[in-house]
Amino acid sequence: MPHRTIHLFRKGLRLHDNPTLLAALESSEVVYPVYILDRKFLMSAMNMGTLRWHFLLQSLEDLQRNLTKLGSCLLVIQGEYKLVLRDHIKKWNINQVTLDAEIEPFYKEMERTIQVLGREMGFDVLSLRGHTLYDIRRILDMNGGTPPLTYKRFLHILSVLGDPDMPVRNLTTEDFQRCKPAPELHLAECYRVPLPEDLEISRDSQSPWRGGETEGLQRLEQHLKNQGWIANFTKPKTIPNSLLPSTTGLSPYFSLGCLSVRSFFYRLSNIYAQSKNHSLPPVSLQGQLLWREFFYTVASATPNFTKMAGNPICLQINWYQDAERLHKWRMAQTGFPWIDAIMTQLHQEGWIHHLARHAVACFLTRGDLWISWEEGMKVFEEMLLDADYSINAGNWMWLSASAFFHQYTRIFCPVRFGKRTDPEGQYIRKYLPVLTNFPSKYIYEPWTAPEEAQKQAGCIIGQDYPLPMLNHKEASDHNLQLMKQVREEQYGTAQLTRGKISYETAHSV
Ligand code: FAD
Repeated sequence: MPHRTIHLFRKGLRLHDNPTLLAALESSEVVYPVYILDRKFLMSAMNMGTLRWHFLLQSLEDLQRNLTKLGSCLLVIQGEYKLVLRDHIKKWNINQVTLDAEIEPFYKEMERTIQVLGREMGFDVLSLRGHTLYDIRRILDMNGGTPPLTYKRFLHILSVLGDPDMPVRNLTTEDFQRCKPAPELHLAECYRVPLPEDLEISRDSQSPWRGGETEGLQRLEQHLKNQGWIANFTKPKTIPNSLLPSTTGLSPYFSLGCLSVRSFFYRLSNIYAQSKNHSLPPVSLQGQLLWREFFYTVASATPNFTKMAGNPICLQINWYQDAERLHKWRMAQTGFPWIDAIMTQLHQEGWIHHLARHAVACFLTRGDLWISWEEGMKVFEEMLLDADYSINAGNWMWLSASAFFHQYTRIFCPVRFGKRTDPEGQYIRKYLPVLTNFPSKYIYEPWTAPEEAQKQAGCIIGQDYPLPMLNHKEASDHNLQLMKQVREEQYGTAQLTRGKISYETAHSV
């Protein structure tokens, strides 16, 4: 029997390489493209901040426009997802719900709830993978049912699996014409994307990143024109404090699925095929997509992945609880201009370079403040446009040397790190205008400037801009000893993500 289908968008807000929506259209006489804006669910699962809300609404508007161009429309319905589905399944006489399969526990829980509802109300559920390169379950199976815990082991498994699945074709007007138009599509006004003010979201803060598939594809095409840059991309050589992103800046689009990682992967392969030499994982652009895949794989099969307690791969550390210091870090008030400029960019734009993330994450955790990575992860979750369950937690564990990263004696200096690539401090001047008139020699440590220089710069340290909140050398030396001790005491756990020991052995050491 041909289906009457609700296609439920969650991530995957795109019409290119969308296997689930394609399958829905191929198997149905009517398809209702729906986004359920369940604010309670979104806030409890993801704690979205203002910039993320704007990005989501813009992405939905773009999807609505693009669907309209193909003779369909996006129906945005506000409310608790289970109730909304229950109502509309009856109202529209639905016998199939299609949705992308996701790996986050909150989305898996939602899918289970929909399955139960399906059994109760008599509709089928079809969920296909669209957000990762590989079927993560196959990677786990190939590794004996557990996640590979090092990138090297992960790459080895992928080499056995071969290339990722090819992207599916773009959707066209014909795909939508094959189905009867749903009468409700003419009522699109009732199902419009809410305005920020409808949701009481301030319009004051706007990021230079505009949400949506159209914008994502434009940015992607722009990068792909520069084939030499793509072929030679070497992540550690990119610059954290350049005034425009020195990497692709595509992460917000991958995060909501406005862009397909598979399409990007194969576009990169085409460029590599035409280049005499190209960079390789882990530092190449495909290597970056594989880092993403790596964290998705480990997260999908590790209990309590976003927490320290109960997380078998994470060192159990007695971090300090210091709300005041955490607040200063969050609010860009540490007194270290490099750290504060990065946190300001995060607040204003919702995106910062990978190495800038290194700098502030190391500072908060093992470097200076010895505050839990979970606190930092929560701040990133709220503010990053690309905030992602698996990648965020995975990288925070990395930076805090709680898992994956083992050269814990390498602590980033909040003064020297930024200076290497931006000795004049242009980045600091942009994001901390209060320091803009400081001579370059003091810009990374303005507290060392003589009083006269501070007066001339129109900024007295301790009055117009904070004094450094701690002595970096003392704090980092002390923390290094703490970390050394933790790693000696929890040798087994530390070795797990070095690939030297198995789950079972680690926890019996
Ligand atoms: P590019 O260098 O152009 O890479 C292309 C794509 O590869 C990215 O868009 C992203 O999807 C993926 N990628 C790149 N680096 C990584 C990485 N280290 N791990 C996993 N995937 C990667 N990235 C997120 O997408 N969401 C997060 O919540 C997130 N939190 C982070 C937290 C910390 C503490 C750190 C150190 C890094 C975090 N990252 C996160 C990873 C990385 O910083 C961003 O993916 C990257 O900076 C995004 O910029 P880009 O798109 O220009 O990356």
